Amino acid sequence: MPIQIQSVCCGEIGENAWIVRAEGRGDCVVIDPGDEYPKLNQAIGGRRVAAMLLTHGHFDHIMAVGELQEATGAPVYVSAEDAEMLDDPRKNGLLGLMGGATMPGPAIRALPFGEKLSAAGMDFEILPTPGHSKGSVCLYLPAEGALFSGDTLFLAGFGRMDLYGGSPMEMRESLKRLFALPPETRVYPGHGGETTIGAERSRYRL
Ligand SMILES: [Zn+2]
Repeated sequence: MPIQIQSVCCGEIGENAWIVRAEGRGDCVVIDPGDEYPKLNQAIGGRRVAAMLLTHGHFDHIMAVGELQEATGAPVYVSAEDAEMLDDPRKNGLLGLMGGATMPGPAIRALPFGEKLSAAGMDFEILPTPGHSKGSVCLYLPAEGALFSGDTLFLAGFGRMDLYGGSPMEMRESLKRLFALPPETRVYPGHGGETTIGAERSRYRL
């Protein structure tokens, strides 16, 4: 099914929030709402938000979650492993160097690791990809060949492993898992430009 993917570049760190919808439908899914609610809200353009999906619990990706939930009532999904980060600035900030967020307590639902989640007419596979945080996931739409990679895989790079819950060994295994996807898979990361699995795989020997 054709889908439309819109990026909203937010905040001082320039994280990507993603608005994803199936063509012909009026609702959408927001992946990693970012930290600039007014800009995000404008881009959503009044569409119904069926769900918010979080790739991980870092502050730059989650600060708009509370406002968006208040405005839309949309359920928030995050992995059980990263749920503890959402209201703890010591865990979701960057080693105390930058900000950190305290969530106003949105109702959180657990992303089913390794399983499927259907929202707004799309079937997301939840790929566990720890390494940047304990509970980092990538959200994969196999039929559409699209992967939302959070801070695990970037254009010409991968996520930091020195933050709370990070692990170089786990990152290596997670990248291997992602590089087993079809090379033409389009990658939509949490920061920076888009890429493909094939282009990124060619950079590494794992
Ligand atoms: Zn992060």
